[in-house]
Amino acid sequence: MKTGYVQRYQRDFESFYPNGRAFAFYKGRVALYAILRALDIQPGDEVIMPGFTCLVDATPVKYLGAKPVYVDIDEDIYNMDLGKLEEKITDRTKVVIAQHTYGYPLEMDLLLEIAGKHNFKIVEDCCHTFGSKYKNRLAGAFGDAAYFSSQWNKLYTTGIGGVAVLYNESDIRKLEQICNVELGKAGFKDVSLLFLELLAHKMILYPQSSALLQKLFRWLSGKGLIVGSSSKKELASEAGCNVNMPEEFFTAMSALQARTGISRLKMIDKNICHRKKIVKIYDDILAERGWRVTKYSDYIEPVLVRYPVLVDNKKKTLELAESRFVELGDWFVSPLHDEVKNFEIYDYIPGMCPIAEKICKHVVNLPVHQRVSEKQAIRTAKFICQFEQFR
Ligand SMILES: *Cc1c(COP(=O)(O)O)cnc(C)c1O
Repeated sequence: MKTGYVQRYQRDFESFYPNGRAFAFYKGRVALYAILRALDIQPGDEVIMPGFTCLVDATPVKYLGAKPVYVDIDEDIYNMDLGKLEEKITDRTKVVIAQHTYGYPLEMDLLLEIAGKHNFKIVEDCCHTFGSKYKNRLAGAFGDAAYFSSQWNKLYTTGIGGVAVLYNESDIRKLEQICNVELGKAGFKDVSLLFLELLAHKMILYPQSSALLQKLFRWLSGKGLIVGSSSKKELASEAGCNVNMPEEFFTAMSALQARTGISRLKMIDKNICHRKKIVKIYDDILAERGWRVTKYSDYIEPVLVRYPVLVDNKKKTLELAESRFVELGDWFVSPLHDEVKNFEIYDYIPGMCPIAEKICKHVVNLPVHQRVSEKQAIRTAKFICQFEQFR
């Protein structure tokens, strides 16, 4: 396989974001790190993000000695509450991460207005979406940069993988220079294993097996037998220890991943269409049974990675789902998914984002991926409706 695939994937990505330059990386978090480097984030700088995100949004910030600052979320749509953003802005604020949680676009006009007043950069976290629109424009096209993940659980998958899209000429040149000097290549062993996993992923029956499969993946990766998305080394797991970037972190996307990405992007319309259809089924059944479904403005057109609902008893719901082979997700289990104890290392003090913490206790999510059939969706929605809704 030639490196040409990576270039092609980048060009294909740019066809969706014609004003930007795409850079493909080994993982989404690496793409974020690359963007932060291009934006010249320095020790002591502050990077604002919602207190309802993946731990790997905070880790690259810490690698650079900068400080993640958390803003609570809006409980109606799970995105950063922009009414609470300005109180967190200081003269050290360099970046605000605009995460489009579950695929619901953040209120971008308002964020742009605040950015204009306070002079920070906007980095869109598009890891939960591809194709969501805000006022007829794709999420990912609004900020100074955006990044995407194509890890197993995301909208489309290349096994693991990420893309950064940058818009400012000087940032693009800077990142090119950094990549020329520092960007490493994925090891042969990792890429070979990834190849087998992608193959297995294609063959294995979904969705009944997917919860089990995920467990199997997790177990195997715990044994060091699989290229998981998180290695122990990457995340500081012991209280008090520093968050140091592992040596092999800044790694390019491999040709195998890029080739998979190229073919997944070709089928993206079908993927998006399917997701909208499944979401409509969930919306209809839940609304019919008096459940609160996520409300949003009519100028928003979300494409969801998963469909969130709030249940009264999350633990019981997840347990029963597992025993009945109903696929159900737990995103997010904490303000810094899926860290559950060492928040202080990442400058999150429990109680900082009370709404997010409350939502974590009650949110579960229904699958909308391509192997969920209509019948399956109906079954899943009805399964959820037997529980008590969280109000
Ligand atoms: C998945 C995800 C990431 C990072 O993805 P990787 O490709 O696994 O590094 C970052 N932010 C959010 C919100 C995500 O869901």
